[in-house]
Amino acid sequence: MTQANSIQTSNNAPQKKRKAVALISGGLDSLLAAKVIQEQGIHVEGINFYTGFCVEGHTHAIRKKDKDKQKRNNALWVAEQLGIKLHIIDISEEYKDIVLNPKHGYGANLNPCLDCKIFMVNQAQAWAWAEENGFDFIITGEVIGQRPKSQRKETMPIIARESGAEDRLLRPLCAKNLMPTLPEREGWVDREQLYDFSGRSRKPQFELAKKFGFDDFAQPAGGCCFLTDANYSAKLADLWEARGERRYELDDIMLLKVGRHIRPKPNFKLIVSREEGENNFLKGYKKQFTSIHTVSHGGPLTLLDGSFDKEDIKLAAQIVARYSGGKSADAVTVQIENFNGTSYVMDVPPMPAHEVKEEWHV
Ligand code: SF4
Repeated sequence: MTQANSIQTSNNAPQKKRKAVALISGGLDSLLAAKVIQEQGIHVEGINFYTGFCVEGHTHAIRKKDKDKQKRNNALWVAEQLGIKLHIIDISEEYKDIVLNPKHGYGANLNPCLDCKIFMVNQAQAWAWAEENGFDFIITGEVIGQRPKSQRKETMPIIARESGAEDRLLRPLCAKNLMPTLPEREGWVDREQLYDFSGRSRKPQFELAKKFGFDDFAQPAGGCCFLTDANYSAKLADLWEARGERRYELDDIMLLKVGRHIRPKPNFKLIVSREEGENNFLKGYKKQFTSIHTVSHGGPLTLLDGSFDKEDIKLAAQIVARYSGGKSADAVTVQIENFNGTSYVMDVPPMPAHEVKEEWHV
């Protein structure tokens, strides 16, 4: 063992330098949790899981109104702040089973937080290199009471147990409220230098961030995951209902993040772009969907999702015309483009605003 890989203990016997894997979401809590452990001389590396439901890098990257917001991958930014290596893993395929069949159910929306945590901790532990490279324990930024479903004192042991991590799972921000874990009992980390945060208040985290000199961390309003968002969950539930089965592809869940979703009939819906950035994004889907755009007036690009006949297309065209610059005109010319590239135009009267029913908006 080299000197760099060992630390001297008080009795001068070299002790192996311990290694921890930190689950890095890109938010403040995981940043702080990793930092707290790093400060104790532990070698930390990060893992960031890509589920497809992450907020950052999509809506913010697409919409023009968010143009002035800095676009960055927050997990990478956290890794850079900490000076640690980050392993980004795409788990979007395996993750479907968690979203579709959560053993422990959903939270307030379609967020399967408890199953998600178990899955992620398990992935971190199961990941071959974690053991091959001698990682000793896992760190998460969980805080008791922060989330009503997954971050309760009673659920913390469930995550540890069902993930298989057992007491090699350390939550540095609330460790003092929990039983000592293996890294604490073995003296790899000093329990006294861990924290006892609990509850929904973020004040202790902000104070700790200040102490460490972090002032530019991500604080997404609705958390980092679309599944906690009520509007997004409603759209996902609508998709399953319309399909008559619970399944999704990555494109489906990407499109749920974009545009106005209007379902005038159970068999199809319109995805209407709300601004230029979304317009450009939806263009990328023109080879997969029938699309409608206005020719005589400026207007949004719209994708049709589902199955539809000529009458349905006419209805859709009228709705599209209502969202165009010609909404008060007698007629608007729209172009219908099939995904195979064939197209035709038609003139339609825009649908009056009051006829676009509230319940059509998903
Ligand atoms: S908010 Fe999303 S990513 Fe976070 S635990 Fe819940 S389901 Fe998982």
